[in-house]
Amino acid sequence: MIRTRFAPSPTGYLHVGGLRTALYCYLFAKKSKGKFILRIEDTDQERYVEGAVENLLKTLDWVGLEYDEGVQLDKSQKGEYGPYVQSERTEIYKEHVEKLIESGDAYHCFCTKERLDEMREVQTKNKQATMYDRKCLDLPKSEVKAKIEAGEKYVIRQKIPYELVKFKDLIRGNVQFHGKTIDDQILVKSDGYPTYHLANVVDDHLMEITDVIRGEEWLPSTPKHIALYNAFGWEQPNFAHIPLLHNSDGSKLSKRQGHVAVEDYIKEGYSKEAIINFIAFLGWHPGSGEQKEIFTLEELEGIFSLEKVQKSGAIFGIEKLDWFNWRWQKEKFNQEITAIAKEIDPSLEKTEPRKGQIKFVFETKEMSDRFIKTKGEKLLEICTDFLTSQIKDKENLPEVLTTVDEKILKNPKETEENIKFYYELPNYDKELLTHEKMGVDLNQAKESLEQGKKTLEELENWSEDKITDALLKTVERMGIKNGQLLWPLRAALSGLQFSPGVFEIAKVLGREESIERINQAIKKI
Ligand code: GLU
Repeated sequence: MIRTRFAPSPTGYLHVGGLRTALYCYLFAKKSKGKFILRIEDTDQERYVEGAVENLLKTLDWVGLEYDEGVQLDKSQKGEYGPYVQSERTEIYKEHVEKLIESGDAYHCFCTKERLDEMREVQTKNKQATMYDRKCLDLPKSEVKAKIEAGEKYVIRQKIPYELVKFKDLIRGNVQFHGKTIDDQILVKSDGYPTYHLANVVDDHLMEITDVIRGEEWLPSTPKHIALYNAFGWEQPNFAHIPLLHNSDGSKLSKRQGHVAVEDYIKEGYSKEAIINFIAFLGWHPGSGEQKEIFTLEELEGIFSLEKVQKSGAIFGIEKLDWFNWRWQKEKFNQEITAIAKEIDPSLEKTEPRKGQIKFVFETKEMSDRFIKTKGEKLLEICTDFLTSQIKDKENLPEVLTTVDEKILKNPKETEENIKFYYELPNYDKELLTHEKMGVDLNQAKESLEQGKKTLEELENWSEDKITDALLKTVERMGIKNGQLLWPLRAALSGLQFSPGVFEIAKVLGREESIERINQAIKKI
């Protein structure tokens, strides 16, 4: 059975790169009905941060990455391979490192900090790689014992075999390192705590991890780990190293250029669906030919594969996250309003005039009005925090909001700006009523405004459908193009270069106000 693990060191928050590792581990395990494990790697006591584990668990829980084994928010642990917190496993590491000392694969090192600094200085001067010079490697056992008994401080180092280490990375392919270029890694620090390297390998083995999926920054550590597996006589797991994350300018993702904590994106209002969807696509793609980009976590479980993870660095583009957020917002909103529409009219017809845009055709006007009101109220929930009380008091606000629904879903902060024109006609220049490309000069504009006004004055029922029909008939009667009538009318009603469509605006403004605005436009000409 496939067993993967996410093994964060709790440093205070969940890094977006960490979430990506967790997600890929999760998806890889779920796809083959395996297990996903959460292990807390907290052996670095100097980096201990109060509340960090709790923070991490909360964030994983919020995005919906459920693990099969590991620590839980109530501090209990689930799974048969625990404890899942490294600081609770120190005895296990001690036992294991003893074995390595016995077999000669690890040794005590009593070198002082001063000596090591001096050694490195000389090496740097001589343009050599800075590596431990193995001064303590061959200390006689009796001397080691005497030093320990005398209370001398020591670390335990791994004796890296001087041989070629080759392995096949599931993402990067064949990788090799020579042992001579690898430092004799510290396995146990002078405070008695194991380092990442020892604890990580011992735990991955004892927890029966089959696939180690982690960030590329750990690739140079892998030969050290493989040497440890060999020293213990254990079978090594598969390794997969995911490419680093970069900012759009190619630099390494850092706090200076934006948020790196998942929590910050949550606080900014991004939805979990968008975050997961975006993170999944950072360095992975379902494959050529696949156009779909919007996937739920469950859908991703079905299609994820490590072969499709790219080797080169992935760009963390905030615009793309914004795009996913908007698409998800829209997706969820459409689902919600479709359900509402069906409740109002069970025999409802749904059309999609443009991709992703839904239009409902209701049986009665009463149903349609009820739907618009409910939809408007839903939109109000999304943008209410960004509206002034002056606008909030407007009675027709829900209806107004439905005419800028796409914009609200994309950026609710700009809602007031986008609807102000309904309540106060902006000051505009008469040139706005013309449109060269559409063939509307001032004469044409005047003619169209007059004809349009007449049509609207004579209209019996003031509904969007009726307004549409009547104005399109007017176009036909006048023998002109749609734009030649609709552009000047829309400009007159909104006073803006860009706005919702003329039929919608007219419907919301009502007959009296619409005619009044058209009159003002005619006067300008
Ligand atoms: N504790 C390591 C980290 O924080 C885990 C690396 C690994 O997955 O082996 O990134």
